[in-house]
Amino acid sequence: MNLLSQYVIPIQGLSDGNYNYQFIIEKEFFDEFGPEGYKGNRVVSDILMNKENNVYTIHFHLKGTVEVICDRCLENFLYTIDSEYTLFFKTGISENKKNENDEIIYLDENIHLINLSQYLYEFIDFSIPLRRVHPSEKDCNHEMIKILKKHTNHSKNDYDPRWDNLKELL
Ligand SMILES: [Zn+2]
Repeated sequence: MNLLSQYVIPIQGLSDGNYNYQFIIEKEFFDEFGPEGYKGNRVVSDILMNKENNVYTIHFHLKGTVEVICDRCLENFLYTIDSEYTLFFKTGISENKKNENDEIIYLDENIHLINLSQYLYEFIDFSIPLRRVHPSEKDCNHEMIKILKKHTNHSKNDYDPRWDNLKELL
């Protein structure tokens, strides 16, 4: 069985009301998104779903840690996530109405379940900033920072003088 097929909410024949789910996201989940993706560690997503007629409001609360590389010292560390997102799904809407509201994800009327794996991955991705550094600089690998700084200074001295000519023209 495909691992990602576990991250689903069955909606066929569901009565209106509130439902709770919990999904555990571990290393194997991230592996499904390829070698470029995150390396783990463990995120728990509590989900509260409200169904009213053909509208499903799904609230995600993601908590846990994901392994990322520190931009300052290039060592791996665990980034803590605690974030919330909401999605709206709607079933049984005709084609010409689909573009009315971008906030809503339209589903085929005969759909049996909603697979949340892609959304879970994207929400984890949104929760992690572009610049990822150890929360405290003292946790960084200082030997590595020294080596990296040396390299940076070297490349600064290695500038191309043609840029100076260009600057004069500006
Ligand atoms: Zn660091």
